[in-house]
Amino acid sequence: MNEQTRTKILQSTPRTKGIRKLDHKRLRAQLSRAAPPLDYDRYMRSKAWQIKRRKFLAHYNCQCALCGSKEHLHVHHLHYQTLGKERVEDVLVYCRRCHFLAHKEE
Ligand SMILES: [Zn+2]
Ligand SMILES: [Zn+2]
Repeated sequence: MNEQTRTKILQSTPRTKGIRKLDHKRLRAQLSRAAPPLDYDRYMRSKAWQIKRRKFLAHYNCQCALCGSKEHLHVHHLHYQTLGKERVEDVLVYCRRCHFLAHKEE
């Protein structure tokens, strides 16, 4: 097809709800692929993680990356691709409040 026909088709294709829904579905699929594996909770309770968690907290000066709070600190995973062998750049330290907000915005 030539350039003119293609432009015509593109212009005549309405951006219907159906198309957006499809995009949404694809986005959701991508998100679920990025979701933590099933044994995430078990890993969070493991001794290995407890040791690593302390290391990360120390690396980030035991304070929240957002507000600087030093209470109720959590180690937040920026992604789960290196789960089990995280490096300091794969995580961030958040207080309970900022951690909650960070996940809400996702
Ligand atoms: Zn905070
Ligand atoms: Zn988190």
